[in-house]
Amino acid sequence: MTQLRTVQLIARADEVALGHDTVKQALPIRNIDQMDPFLLLHHFNKDIEPGGPGLDVAPHPHRGFEPITFLFDGAIHHRDSRGNEGFLNGGDVQWMTAGMGIVHSEAAQKPWLENGGKMNLIQLWVNLPKKDKMIQPRYQDIKADSIPVVEKEGLTARVVAGTWEGVTGPAETRTPVVAVEGRMQKGHKLELPVDTTHNAVLYLMDGFLQFNDKHQAGGGFVAIFRQDGNSIQIEALQDSHFLLLTGEPLNEPVSSYGPFVMNTQTEIMEAIRDYQMGKMGMLTY
Ligand code: MN
Repeated sequence: MTQLRTVQLIARADEVALGHDTVKQALPIRNIDQMDPFLLLHHFNKDIEPGGPGLDVAPHPHRGFEPITFLFDGAIHHRDSRGNEGFLNGGDVQWMTAGMGIVHSEAAQKPWLENGGKMNLIQLWVNLPKKDKMIQPRYQDIKADSIPVVEKEGLTARVVAGTWEGVTGPAETRTPVVAVEGRMQKGHKLELPVDTTHNAVLYLMDGFLQFNDKHQAGGGFVAIFRQDGNSIQIEALQDSHFLLLTGEPLNEPVSSYGPFVMNTQTEIMEAIRDYQMGKMGMLTY
């Protein structure tokens, strides 16, 4: 039987500074520090002029969680202190497990920057359980054509992680997480299944959606649902592009400082020290 989840919050993402740019921050939002296990969601969406400046994030460390990049449009060059190098293009996803620590940089690909164009991406931080925070770093390079598609009435959904509508995405996750990128045509109304034990967040990159026949959200808005049902009802009032994220909460203490997310303040101090001592590796700019 279908039990629709009620809406806890619909809010416009905050504009926050990130380097020389601004991004829309959908998590944390208002008084919601996290939607366990989802810690942070940033949306970068800009038309880049030929020659730039484009996206250019200098080397920085991470420990204790998974930073994930969903690239919808544009071209990104990624490098890290483990010697990995990746080139992401539209539709690709980079699922990184920072684990005990990694230093990386992200920038627009140089040849792409010559002509410029639309750069549209989301960066999501998924927390790691206590037992996995110090595992070896890992990098899953997920190409667009490896992501399976679910077609429903008016909806084209790409299943990046988890199993959704019987289809399993390619990303391997440390705890149960579902990540689905959806494009929905105006005039359709659907119920999207959600595991009853999961927290659920929907971020709308573009368009206009209505939830439960009453709550409305435009592009750049986030919808957060209570854990009180097994589906989410959405109606596209315009063609819409969204990311649906659901995950089983870890229910563990969170202690964070900048790019480090651990369980205790002592572990944060250790992370800062380890980074300063070069234990997360080095990456020259
Ligand atoms: Mn990063």
